[in-house]
Amino acid sequence: MDNMADGTVLRGGMSSITGAAVEMSLDELFGAVEQEWQDQALCAQTDPEAFFPEKGGSTREAKRICMACAVRDECLEYALEHDERFGIWGGLSDRERRRLKKQIG
Ligand code: SF4
Repeated sequence: MDNMADGTVLRGGMSSITGAAVEMSLDELFGAVEQEWQDQALCAQTDPEAFFPEKGGSTREAKRICMACAVRDECLEYALEHDERFGIWGGLSDRERRRLKKQIG
């Protein structure tokens, strides 16, 4: 019984140390992945203003570019995670992203 209790404490202690280590390396990993998808962003090679149109302006050209972008999923995920309020991200407008967020909970 004592042994089991010791084992539990030890495992708990070890897992919290491991947890911190994993968290750090995941942060680094996410940073690297984030950078990587942004390097492949198709919009970076086009007119950025198309992605941030004036109110009521057309989003068609930006969305057309997004549809051909290799990192659309990553981009959309980033926008949803960071609650981006402006512009076209991952082929969706702010309103469309909010609707999607509601749908997925
Ligand atoms: S999905 Fe659209 S907004 Fe996102 S990186 Fe690609 S082109 Fe840019």
